[in-house]
Amino acid sequence: MVSQRIRTRVRVSGIVQGVGFRPFVYSLATGLGLGGLVGNDVDGVFAEVEGAPEAVEKFMVALGRDAPPLAGVERIATSPLRPQGSTVFAIAPSQPGGERRTLVSADTATCDDCLAELADPADRRFGYPFINCTNCGPRFTIVTGVPYDRALTTMAGFAMCGSCAAEYHDPANRRFHAQPTCCPDCGPRLRLTDPTGASLFVDPVADPVDGAADVLARGGVLAVKGLGGYHLAAGAASEAATAALRARKHREDKPFAIMAADLDQARALCEVDGVAADLLTSRRRPIVLLPRRAGPAAGPGTGVARPVAPGNRCLGVMLPYTALHHLLLARTGPIVLTSGNVSDEPIAYADDDALAKLRGIADAFLTHDRPIHVRTDDSVVRTFRGRAALVRRARGHAPEPLRLRTAFARPVLACGAELKSTFCLAKGDRAFVSQHIGDLENAETLRSFTEGIAHFGALFEITPAVIAHDLHPEYLSTKYAQDLADANPGGLELVGVQHHHAHIASCLADNGADGTGGDSPARVIGVAFDGTGYGTDGTVWGGEFLVAGLDGFERAGHLAPVPMPGGAAAIRQPWRMAAAYTDAGCPDGLSGPLDVRRRNEERWASVLAMARRGVNSPATSSAGRLFDAVAALVGVRDQVNYEGQAAVELEQLAEPAERGRYPAAVEDGDVLVASGADLFRCAADDLAAGVGREVIAARFHNGLAGLIVDCCVLLRERTGLTTAALSGGVFQNLLLLEAVTGRLEARGFAVLTHCRVPCNDGGISLGQAVVAAARTRPGGLARTT
Ligand SMILES: [Zn+2]
Ligand SMILES: [Zn+2]
Repeated sequence: MVSQRIRTRVRVSGIVQGVGFRPFVYSLATGLGLGGLVGNDVDGVFAEVEGAPEAVEKFMVALGRDAPPLAGVERIATSPLRPQGSTVFAIAPSQPGGERRTLVSADTATCDDCLAELADPADRRFGYPFINCTNCGPRFTIVTGVPYDRALTTMAGFAMCGSCAAEYHDPANRRFHAQPTCCPDCGPRLRLTDPTGASLFVDPVADPVDGAADVLARGGVLAVKGLGGYHLAAGAASEAATAALRARKHREDKPFAIMAADLDQARALCEVDGVAADLLTSRRRPIVLLPRRAGPAAGPGTGVARPVAPGNRCLGVMLPYTALHHLLLARTGPIVLTSGNVSDEPIAYADDDALAKLRGIADAFLTHDRPIHVRTDDSVVRTFRGRAALVRRARGHAPEPLRLRTAFARPVLACGAELKSTFCLAKGDRAFVSQHIGDLENAETLRSFTEGIAHFGALFEITPAVIAHDLHPEYLSTKYAQDLADANPGGLELVGVQHHHAHIASCLADNGADGTGGDSPARVIGVAFDGTGYGTDGTVWGGEFLVAGLDGFERAGHLAPVPMPGGAAAIRQPWRMAAAYTDAGCPDGLSGPLDVRRRNEERWASVLAMARRGVNSPATSSAGRLFDAVAALVGVRDQVNYEGQAAVELEQLAEPAERGRYPAAVEDGDVLVASGADLFRCAADDLAAGVGREVIAARFHNGLAGLIVDCCVLLRERTGLTTAALSGGVFQNLLLLEAVTGRLEARGFAVLTHCRVPCNDGGISLGQAVVAAARTRPGGLARTT
């Protein structure tokens, strides 16, 4: 008696090609005794399965639940077919051109199966630093074009040996169609060289990893070729090595990240909660910002030398994400692993260039012959209220798209801002936000930007019809957008998006809040606090309250403008902002002398005179400049090496337990004007009264949070809006973010904060894209679900 059989057609869409989906389906189906077939086509993966109804049902359950780690299943659709009597299961050959819409996945940390082989002396890839499989390894950084195939990766020059080819063609093998697969017989080779490029250790004569570990053990600086570029490494416990690295790199203050071998080592350095542990061990392997452990280090060799992150309560920690890192960390303690560059240049990724630029910094180079095609930094993430919030979105995330609830009616290119630049290409319901590119201020970063746009456009077949840009006429990204439009007369629609509107729109898109869902507000009270953004009135904005939707905004309030004496000089020299705020906040004189004035007595009067006459002193409502003023006032620093540094240090200084709050007036006119100068004056009074700097810093934070909440409450009374969206680089300040979020929620607001893209200017391109889409299509964006 023949039991009843059914046949079902299955279609799976999403990131399902080049991620081991067909072998997964093959082994799942054969394990359940099903007949049928599986294949790739332009829409993803299709399959037909035939057998007993219970077996087909088990297949369907496991299909969604047990998909390979790199797969991003977006949809599974089924339809019934007539049984054909199939008892064997086959992989259907791909049709030519049938994989064009493959979504390239992000680079992925070495998987457990590969790590087990790496550690197994009997395995033919024992100790091989380039081991990978369908579930792990390099992807985005080695892909040179589409379709995703070995010939269009930087592995093209490595012909597979017989053993690797057999695995590659075996549907039951973990390396079936694993494009970067290789082994010691056929793959890339590791080398250790001196700073002239001369080989010191060449595999297999001597192990270059041993030589590299020896360089670190002797206190040297090592350049290491990673997935997206070169890193500079030094023993994290070594005062001399980390100080030398800092001096040679001309990196005076920004903290270094640390790579630890495993979670236990990370826990010896920092407080690691469950969410942070999941992030550290995730396949994306970002740098996770973690609170430092109080007290002495847990054991020998686990300490962190002072130059690693001076004066910072947090450490950036990551775990190994390539086999090479695992091999190296097995021979060392925790190491500093920082971008291979000099001061503010982008990370070096081409071998010759890296050697030329880093030879004055590194004592040796641990390198290899697999080229890097796309420069990509490490991602940086932190946790806020139990969820991840990206600070820098790069390796492990790019080029995976952000799915939006609404579809772009026309393809959009958004060019971002200037600092922490990213771009965004969007089509359908997908927004491809580029990896962090850096500050668009030198030719090399600009080249990464323009080449990246071309590369993404080719990979994802997006030809933009709409170009979005910042309103700042001098940003290189703005000029690029205008040049592109000029070169395509009549073909491209140009849309200028105000900087802080883009921040708020980015926060809305990040949260899937775009006015189209049942509980999704069409408009929100947007709080956009940052350093600098070009306002619609030509002044410098940065402490903004917007009543905003995707299609438009109204400037409903802002910090009271003060002059920036000397323009850009005031950004580099926070004491100038202290002078400007002294004038604005203490017009009747001070209750005591100011140390900041005494330290800068020679130029104080002339800077004030310049500000009062309005000479080279643009007015700004920037919250970043208010932080600068207070930081200089309490003696944090008078000069900075990067924008935002004084604010970061003021946050680190603040006493977390202090509950006092400085009051600030809000002028309740057509547009709310909030007095940052009131906060400054209170801080100056406390300082004169001998209150501690830690307490002053905390009361300032609490006062600014109170000012923000007061303004939001006033705007709620006027508009009836009950959702507040917080964006802009100032909200990287966790103390402020926590205070504002908590108080707004206590007052009954729904609060949106960033998660998938940074709140800083790295998130601007996504905001520009959704604003441009909303403004260039009647009725806004098209609903997809
Ligand atoms: Zn693997
Ligand atoms: Zn091989």
